[in-house]
Amino acid sequence: MKLTIGYLYGDLMNIYGDTGNIIALQKRSEWRGIEVELKQISVGSGFKKGDADLYFFGGGQDESQIAVAKDLIKKGPILKEEIERGVPLLSICGGYQLLGDYYAPEEGEKLKGVGIFPAYTNASEERMIGNIVIKVMSDELGVMSKNNSHNPAPITHNLLVGFENHSGRTFLNEGLPAGRQGAKPLGKLIKGFGNNGEDRTEGCIYKNAIGCYMHGSLLPKNPELADWLIKKALEVKYGKEIELKALDDELENKAHASAVKRFS
Ligand code: GLN
Repeated sequence: MKLTIGYLYGDLMNIYGDTGNIIALQKRSEWRGIEVELKQISVGSGFKKGDADLYFFGGGQDESQIAVAKDLIKKGPILKEEIERGVPLLSICGGYQLLGDYYAPEEGEKLKGVGIFPAYTNASEERMIGNIVIKVMSDELGVMSKNNSHNPAPITHNLLVGFENHSGRTFLNEGLPAGRQGAKPLGKLIKGFGNNGEDRTEGCIYKNAIGCYMHGSLLPKNPELADWLIKKALEVKYGKEIELKALDDELENKAHASAVKRFS
């Protein structure tokens, strides 16, 4: 099997170490004998339906977001169609913000978002920085409720750990028109600020697209989420149920458990 990962704006949106997620997706596929192609998709590059089986969109500063938002005016509707047909996507912080309805940076114009997530973000005075732990609330990620029993290190069910650094406050549904309701948060906060530091939600999930504020990078310490993305991508691409071979995640699970213990 082959997995093509579309790296969205990796040259502009990569200042918070989120490229580590690409490495995790690549390695966890290659360790299973799955061929991986990495496709850079950025300002000025072509982009069409089916260009990738899985998309990743990392975090970035407001000025990069302004340039990217301009390019998304053209690429955004194609990306939205990809999500509607079930292609999985992981977006972190700045990337997540641009996939909502709009992002209003601290200075300058409000940036039109792609509208994948029924959400909007306003920059704020205070930066929300620190370790974050959430409990996944969404059934879509049911696979994470299984314990990966082949590894001795106890992993904590349905928890995700990461690090956040954002001034943007993201609100789901609230204040959006009737047709833009029903957004599901990725999870509930156990520790940290999450979407907005107020309603104790973190992130958003729509079909197989995930947005969240969890840098870290996220996937190396949350291997089950990495596998969920890979599995979904291959199932949509090949049109059948795919069981991924178990990997020895002892180190990953120890890192996960230690973060949960230290920061919950
Ligand atoms: N510029 C955005 C903010 O500060 C996104 C930051 C990021 O991607 N970490 O909220």
